[in-house]
Amino acid sequence: MSDLDADYVVVGAGSAGCTVAARLSEDGARVVLLEAGPRDWHPMIHIPAGALHLRANPLVNWNYYTDPEPALGNRALHWPRGRVLGGTSSINGMLYVRGNPADYDGWAQTGCRGWSYAEVLPFFKKSENYAGGDPEYRGRGGPLPVEDYRTILPLTHRFVEAAQQAGFALTRDYNGAVQEGVGYSQMTRGGRFRGSTARTFLAQARRRRNLRVVPNAVATCLGFDGRRCTGVAFRRHGRIEHVRAAREVVLCGGTVNSPHLLQVSGIGPADYLKSIGVPVVLDLPGVGANLSDHFAARVTHRVKDAVSVNQLARGAPLLRELARYVATGRGALTFGVTTAMVFARSREGLASPDLQLLFTPGSYEPGGYGRLEREPGMTIAVCLARPDSRGTIMARSADPLDRPAIRPNYLSAAGDVGVLLAGIALARRIFAAPALHPYSAAETMPGADCASEPALRDFLHRDGTNLHHPVGTCRMGEDPMAVVDSRLRVRGIGGLRVIDASVMPSVTTGNTNAPTIMIAEKGAAMIREDAKAAKAA
Ligand SMILES: Cc1cc2nc3c(=O)[nH]c(=O)nc-3n(C[C@H](O)[C@H](O)[C@H](O)COP(=O)(O)OP(=O)(O)OC[C@H]3O[C@@H](n4cnc5c(N)ncnc54)[C@H](O)[C@@H]3O)c2cc1C
Repeated sequence: MSDLDADYVVVGAGSAGCTVAARLSEDGARVVLLEAGPRDWHPMIHIPAGALHLRANPLVNWNYYTDPEPALGNRALHWPRGRVLGGTSSINGMLYVRGNPADYDGWAQTGCRGWSYAEVLPFFKKSENYAGGDPEYRGRGGPLPVEDYRTILPLTHRFVEAAQQAGFALTRDYNGAVQEGVGYSQMTRGGRFRGSTARTFLAQARRRRNLRVVPNAVATCLGFDGRRCTGVAFRRHGRIEHVRAAREVVLCGGTVNSPHLLQVSGIGPADYLKSIGVPVVLDLPGVGANLSDHFAARVTHRVKDAVSVNQLARGAPLLRELARYVATGRGALTFGVTTAMVFARSREGLASPDLQLLFTPGSYEPGGYGRLEREPGMTIAVCLARPDSRGTIMARSADPLDRPAIRPNYLSAAGDVGVLLAGIALARRIFAAPALHPYSAAETMPGADCASEPALRDFLHRDGTNLHHPVGTCRMGEDPMAVVDSRLRVRGIGGLRVIDASVMPSVTTGNTNAPTIMIAEKGAAMIREDAKAAKAA
């Protein structure tokens, strides 16, 4: 392949990029979609429970690490990110969680015009195909299949009962009228297979001759004509090639790579860019700032007298589950990670939940979510859903292939620790409730002897971990630190937008795949509207 021409060049075929490319190619526009990783041939992508095998698999994963985190005893945390068609939607835990209406109303109040809950709801609905729920909130007929769990282990039912005994109301659809309370998880899964955006949005669009997907193509630099972006240079099979964009370049590289590509292309804080030898195209100080991510602590129990995922994941039970999956498309191989969850407030007086407690009828070895323990267990991951801590992602050098410095500054904001401590207390209350207590042999993490506030604080700093929902490094807004405006156009540069998780002003109350796909739906609709208006003018 030599140089290419397109109307739109989309960089990154992840949750957002596949959605944007599919929508932009609907009306005949020529779209080129560049993806750094390979096609999504790996079978573990498509079998839901295969996600655990992709957590650190370099064939499909960027496998980033943070710099040593000061508040976490200088631990460097693993940051998996999909590097494959479908991006992180091809390796994630498949939970479908839209967040709380207050998240979006909050964005609108801080200057993101058009992003209130009422204004984003139609785009959530447009994207999805969910058979249940209230049609006022839920969509049918969209490309993204959303389903309830098809097999539910009894431990999950006991958790849902226990949470109600602990004072949380049952919410039948946390993506509907009421988020707060306890509810069963919903997944982006179609039947027995993962519903990545590659397998859904992109697969439906792939037959269009005006859409060209280029895997194994790493975008290395944006091209400019003055203050207008005109195309992208990319590296493929060791060669540098170019693609020109007659209308727009759309960055969908995600929270790590979108700000990084802007920075190495000369858009970012001018003094910093000069210090690493990048010629400045535009001084945009917010690029790479405002990094916000969910941080969590796990409370784990050893299970007795019940089946957990740990037993099903090895030996004869695994073979039985495999046969069941092949024969019926049901069973443990259709599981994501979390089967039920609670949205809760850490204290009186809050307008909306600031904690998400995620229940897994299984337990993991300390130090991450990659390996299941041999012994049966169950886990509540206590997630700080609306963190105040903010960090940065900055290029280390002018070389686009050099990995950026990731500094999330977890737990640097004073209030974040207190919210997590309140969440651990809630998790313990649920484990102690009559419905769940009989199945617990003991609390294994942090352990019953970890009860005082100093001990719990120490546990958070020593064992707390990230939940892989980074956002905010190309923040949307109308103030000087904003990177994109409310129509997701890079401020001060023509022909360039960012559409992915990086534009969120703050992380939503819940997992971030559904909000990212909503942003992509809305962003693509805005591009098409603007193109129509330009044509009519
Ligand atoms: C392990 C894990 C589990 C998760 N579980 C859940 C979950 O259960 N539910 C949920 O809602 N969210 C979950 N998330 C988070 C969610 O999946 C992400 O927030 C979302 O996928 C982000 O979408 P994105 O489009 O911003 O980025 P991505 O989906 O990461 O897409 C970015 C794409 O751009 C490509 N790219 C980057 N740079 C370049 C370049 N220079 N040139 C070409 N291509 C490039 C990447 O390879 C990638 O394909 C999880 C995340 C992880 C890591």
